[in-house]
Amino acid sequence: MTTPTTVAAYAVASPKAALTRTTIPRRSVGEYDVGIEIKYAGICHSDIHTALGEWGEAIFPLVPGHEIAGVVTEVGAGVTRYAVGDRVGVGCFVDSCGECENCKAGEEQYCKGMVGTYNSRQFTGEPTYGGYSSHIVVNENYVLRIPDGLGLDVAAPLLCAGITLYSPLAHWGAGPGKNVGIVGMGGLGHMGVQIAHAMGAEVTVLSQSLRKKDDAVRLGADHYYATSDPETFEKLAGSFDLIVNTVSVNLPLDAYLGLLKREGTLVHVGAPGEPSSFAQFSLISQRRSMAGSMIGGIRQTQEMLNFCAEHSLGAEIEVITPDKINEAYERVLASDVRYRFVIDTASLS
Ligand code: NAP
Ligand code: ZN
Repeated sequence: MTTPTTVAAYAVASPKAALTRTTIPRRSVGEYDVGIEIKYAGICHSDIHTALGEWGEAIFPLVPGHEIAGVVTEVGAGVTRYAVGDRVGVGCFVDSCGECENCKAGEEQYCKGMVGTYNSRQFTGEPTYGGYSSHIVVNENYVLRIPDGLGLDVAAPLLCAGITLYSPLAHWGAGPGKNVGIVGMGGLGHMGVQIAHAMGAEVTVLSQSLRKKDDAVRLGADHYYATSDPETFEKLAGSFDLIVNTVSVNLPLDAYLGLLKREGTLVHVGAPGEPSSFAQFSLISQRRSMAGSMIGGIRQTQEMLNFCAEHSLGAEIEVITPDKINEAYERVLASDVRYRFVIDTASLS
């Protein structure tokens, strides 16, 4: 089936505007491209930061969505890895230079030429539009295979939330004998709990309240504490090897650094637009580290999808029709999501 070059989408027309239905152009399927009918697209908090201008001026119209799951409907003549009918995903980027040290290492997400799935420009200069749409065309090297055991709806959020937690957990060695803290039980956090548990680590959730405790325990958390209770920080002082912070706003960093053991690491994946500060002594006093991590490369994203299928892990989702995206944004901002909104984009076709 030929992929349409004008497709239905939900877009933000100007800074802070609500999302409305529109049409956008898609390129024709080229020699090495895969044409995908998008079935589901997750709503990531990054979509909201971008739409609200919290990360700087965006390219308008803005069609967010980098947690894409769908089915291949067309392949270019040179495509070898995918065939029509394959179940596939697309994450946060759709191209990179392919030649720099980061690309060669399979860490394309750190390539200076990385082309974001939306709010970015292709090498031709054309803007990219994300997954809140009916179809997308992507070079086969940036397409992921969704294993048979995973539903497309619960797999969509893995393309960002899943890999964003898998990558630092793998890099910093979450596993048996490691005490791992996950701060924030939202879209990223709830994947972190499941993945860290499946890796064999002892997992503690640090959430604003105890409201989500039962869910976290069901997903594999061994312990759960409310950060609104000052006793939490006394009780857990010096107890973690690794803490992954998924929170979308700035936190009092010294309090969280104090929870690390000697040589423990606090890794930020949450990405508020504003800078934050901390006391150097919070690191110096116990040879601690503070780091950051951004999504993951294509190879590791495939590894994560296979890992999730093997361990029967997926996102806990609430599927919505596209006309409910604006409401969903409000609920994400109010920490009222359990635990990822996924748009039924198939209904756009
Ligand atoms: P989300 O679903 O909104 O989850 C964020 C969680 O942070 C909330 O569920 C809440 O958890 C906690 N939180 C929110 N407001 C808070 C506040 N005022 N004080 C304390 N905790 C608060 O968002 P997400 O989609 O998981 O994304 C989280 C962050 O990661 C965003 O900044 C996003 O842009 C960023 N991100 C980064 C990467 C990367 O590659 N590094 C990739 C994707 C997303 P509790 O209710 O449990 O407290
Ligand atoms: Zn994301």
